[in-house]
Amino acid sequence: MDLHFPIELKKSVIAGTGAYALKAITAKKKIGNMTGEIISYKEAQKRVKKQPGNVLFMVEFDNDDIALDASVNSNELRFINHSCDPNVYMRRAYQKVEYYALRNIKKGEELTCDYGETHHEGTLPCKCGAMNCRGFI
Ligand SMILES: [Zn+2]
Repeated sequence: MDLHFPIELKKSVIAGTGAYALKAITAKKKIGNMTGEIISYKEAQKRVKKQPGNVLFMVEFDNDDIALDASVNSNELRFINHSCDPNVYMRRAYQKVEYYALRNIKKGEELTCDYGETHHEGTLPCKCGAMNCRGFI
């Protein structure tokens, strides 16, 4: 099973569609795996070039020469928005992209993750609204 907690998709307070916890999640609990297609790093670069912007959600793995294209066969976790003050963290290991609760998350809270450099290389203005917002993603 890819989702360990029920997640609801609805309009985000940050950007576009957001992922919301339908149940309280205790800190450090695994929320689930992000589904997608495992492809080579080369193929990932090709796809990113073809479709710039927010449509694609590509996760690169540091150790292997692969990436996960989460715009294919994606699940709710693909809609977790970036925040500079997140409540979720992402772990990439063994060709899996796992999400864990960084702290206790209340029922109805929007799930957010600090995608840092993995995302847009600091060129997109950040709208997360956190006190410690870095201003760019
Ligand atoms: Zn921010």
